[in-house]
Amino acid sequence: MSGSDLEARLVACLPELRGKLKAGASLADLTWFRVGGPAEILCSPADEADLAYFMKNTPADIPVTVIGLGSNLLVRDGGIAGVVIRLGRGFGEIKVEPDHRLRAGAAVPDVKVARAAADAGIAGLSFYRGIPGGVGGALRMNGGAHGRETKEVVIEARAVDRQGNIHVLPVAELHYAYRHCGTPGDFIFTAALFQGEPGEPATILAEMDGIAAYREEVQPIKSRTGGSTFKNPPGNKAWQLIDAAGCRGLMVGDAKVSEMHCNFLINEGKATGADLEELGETVRARVKEMSGIELEWEIKRLGITR
Ligand SMILES: Cc1cc2nc3c(=O)[nH]c(=O)nc-3n(C[C@H](O)[C@H](O)[C@H](O)COP(=O)(O)OP(=O)(O)OC[C@H]3O[C@@H](n4cnc5c(N)ncnc54)[C@H](O)[C@@H]3O)c2cc1C
Repeated sequence: MSGSDLEARLVACLPELRGKLKAGASLADLTWFRVGGPAEILCSPADEADLAYFMKNTPADIPVTVIGLGSNLLVRDGGIAGVVIRLGRGFGEIKVEPDHRLRAGAAVPDVKVARAAADAGIAGLSFYRGIPGGVGGALRMNGGAHGRETKEVVIEARAVDRQGNIHVLPVAELHYAYRHCGTPGDFIFTAALFQGEPGEPATILAEMDGIAAYREEVQPIKSRTGGSTFKNPPGNKAWQLIDAAGCRGLMVGDAKVSEMHCNFLINEGKATGADLEELGETVRARVKEMSGIELEWEIKRLGITR
């Protein structure tokens, strides 16, 4: 089925959809790596009710994949079949609540969560200053940095399942582990409620500046990258294993293991999804040979190879 056939089928099933559908939308433009093929259909629902309507009325044989700000994604060159959901403006609300709490829609960038918290004198969320994703991605990945993780600060999340039911999940039902969330993979998060503690805006803002400066020094944050490629294995640092296996600076086509931080892969210009994935697999094989340890991908690889 071509993208336009699928679009026609969806339009027929979804007469009341308020959000947008686009056939053949570029995903390279929506990811940090800037690689990968198109989405057969890209859907931007208008709000949570519209997303629930979409999920309920879209036939079960059509695959649905959600992406956030694309900072942890490697999209393969054949693109993603079915529908890719990307949440936009209707999921961008951010609201300070009593008792040092903050509610944010899933499309709100983590950096904005940190800033809004600082402005409201809410401490404990400044680590989000360093994570370039959005709230939906942070909920799914249990994003963390500087000694804190999402699971320590989120108290409740809202999600829509593939049947269109809306769930309100307390943190215990998110079943968090290191860079892992145990809620079913078809749940699309729509919002989160964060708990902070009292703090001085000036102190929090200074802490955030420190985080930003540190990042600039140790990570290639201005490059086309996907952040940490592999999870740290228990008791080890992925970057040390990669370095010890001689992979710093290794290249496949225009895909390169960062010289600055060797758990980061970089698209130096014309890398393809296949180049980046092959480079990652080469690193995994060399680390396995050198140390016996199997690195696990932290970056999510989506879609089909060409
Ligand atoms: C320079 C750089 C530095 C980074 N540093 C860190 C760091 O310090 N700590 C850290 O944890 N990560 C880091 N990352 C990785 C990345 O920013 C995080 O994993 C982030 O939480 C991903 O959010 P995203 O919105 O970009 O999600 P995406 O990359 O778009 O998606 C990631 C996963 O989340 C899922 N997802 C996205 N939105 C939703 C939703 N609404 N509902 C359900 N699932 C969803 C996707 O399906 C996918 O499986 C870094 C990345 C870069 C490029």
